[in-house]
Amino acid sequence: MAKERLVVIGGDAAGMSAASQVRRRKPDMEILAFELGRHTSYAA
Ligand SMILES: Cc1cc2nc3c(=O)[nH]c(=O)nc-3n(C[C@H](O)[C@H](O)[C@H](O)COP(=O)(O)OP(=O)(O)OC[C@H]3O[C@@H](n4cnc5c(N)ncnc54)[C@H](O)[C@@H]3O)c2cc1C
Repeated sequence: MAKERLVVIGGDAAGMSAASQVRRRKPDMEILAFELGRHTSYAA
């Protein structure tokens, strides 16, 4: 079966919160985040 992958568009508050949640709940899922700017939200 193909590996599940989460693709996040936007690396600020909402995007990185979603990525963090999925990383905790599904540690094996591949996460790919795209951010238009130079920085992502480091808090989330
Ligand atoms: C003037 C102002 C002051 C604020 N002050 C506060 C405050 O003091 N405290 C507080 O808690 N909240 C504050 N907020 C609210 C807070 O900024 C937002 O609630 C929060 O940033 C929303 O995050 P978000 O991830 O939903 O969206 P955004 O912050 O809009 O993030 C979207 C991200 O997606 C990226 N993006 C967009 N298009 C693409 C694309 N095509 N490909 C890749 N990346 C893309 C953008 O570069 C951006 O990083 C303030 C908002 C404003 C406007």
